[in-house]
Amino acid sequence: MVNDSKKPVRVRFAPSPTGPLHIGGARTTLFNWIFAKKYNGRFILRIEDTDVERSKKEYEEEILNGLKWLGLDWDEGPDIGGEFGPYRQSEKIDIYEKYLKKLIDEEKAYYCFCSKEELEADRQAMLSQGLAPKYSGRCRNLSKEESFRKIEKGESFVIRFKIPAQELEFNDLIRGKIRFNSGLFGDIIVAKGLREPLYNFAVAIDDYEMQISHVIRGEDHLSNTPKQMLMREALGFEHPKYAHLPLILAPDRSKLSKRYLETSLSDYKRQGYLPEAINNFLALLGWHPENDREIFSQEEIIKEFDLKRVQKAGAVFNIEKLEWLNAQYIKKTDSKELVKKLTDFIPSEWQKDKAFISKMIEAEKERIKKLTDFKELAGFFFELPEYDGELLKWQEQSFEKTASNLKTLSNLLESVEENNFSKNILESIIMPIAETIGRGESLWPLRAALSGQKASPGPFEILEILGKTESLKRINIAINKII
Ligand code: GLU
Repeated sequence: MVNDSKKPVRVRFAPSPTGPLHIGGARTTLFNWIFAKKYNGRFILRIEDTDVERSKKEYEEEILNGLKWLGLDWDEGPDIGGEFGPYRQSEKIDIYEKYLKKLIDEEKAYYCFCSKEELEADRQAMLSQGLAPKYSGRCRNLSKEESFRKIEKGESFVIRFKIPAQELEFNDLIRGKIRFNSGLFGDIIVAKGLREPLYNFAVAIDDYEMQISHVIRGEDHLSNTPKQMLMREALGFEHPKYAHLPLILAPDRSKLSKRYLETSLSDYKRQGYLPEAINNFLALLGWHPENDREIFSQEEIIKEFDLKRVQKAGAVFNIEKLEWLNAQYIKKTDSKELVKKLTDFIPSEWQKDKAFISKMIEAEKERIKKLTDFKELAGFFFELPEYDGELLKWQEQSFEKTASNLKTLSNLLESVEENNFSKNILESIIMPIAETIGRGESLWPLRAALSGQKASPGPFEILEILGKTESLKRINIAINKII
């Protein structure tokens, strides 16, 4: 069991609103959300907007909406508050200032006045000696008086944290023992001023203040962990448990990027993926259940999930698998429900008759992989496409024979009353004739005439949906094309 601590489980997703919600962020959220549910914990959403220039309200909204769309709700967050708020870093500046002052007072952090030019010269000097560049420590031992004098004179500064050079070890719940030599870091900048904290510092404070028990985040943050741990130690905070999720890779195992695939969640929404399918897919991006099952409801994932079964190696994003899963979820969704889901994907004039659409969905369900497919697949119901007479021919059959077969069927359909135009009744009337003429020879031209397409649902389903008048009209058009 991964949660062996006595503390209540409190996990978080902490996006920076500097861009749309990335698929990796959605996966991090899902794993945290599942973990909270599994251990009766709380899932917290925290907006990390200390980067004032790059953070945008629109992105924050997009992130919140994306998570809501996935059904990944939070127990505490910027929009709903909570006991440990505020949940937006930009609203917590006083708190960071208090801790920055404490670190400076205790000489665990200091003002650094080095200019860009000095830092660059130091960097070059270290590189030329074959050393990995880090801050030289020039301002580390400035006296307080000297620092204040410089500040009073108006010299610009940043605040650096004194990194104690030591071997650091922690037990990652996914990756096992991780060791770092903090002597390689150099004193890092934690704030640009007392009221301008930077990422690592703000995270260390927030995770403590929000009583986060487990920090579950992407592997790209692994190198930040020792820095945050050292700051926590300097402030006398206990450590949370850490788990770093594997990177998400493109099929060629390079970093997932726009060059290969869409990377933002909203692109997948726009392409007609269902949130249930995305959640299922994301859960399998790095986690594997004990058996080889692929389709899981959220409840089942919660039940089976275990951080111990999350892999260390990068997880390859396989778009075909997502498409396949989406098709499975579409098949499982009730047609009336799909009508609602299709609202944004079909023209508004199609939506006047919901029962009509629902029948089309029923007929096309097997072929819909994404909601966006429906418009193309069902277009022929609304308008007969242009097609060539060749389409009507079954194998080597002549146009003449094709036309006469269509005529036989048309006469037969003429005799069926409009209210008997239902799939089963029509099938029982037409099949005996089709068997005598030949199935292919009769059903192929009929289906092609009704749909104007190479591939479509079967003729009986189409007949029911189109109704008597439109069906006969289309068969007539077909006959006229080839006689
Ligand atoms: N704000 C960071 C990001 O968006 C995540 C911080 C964390 O999870 O510790 O990448």
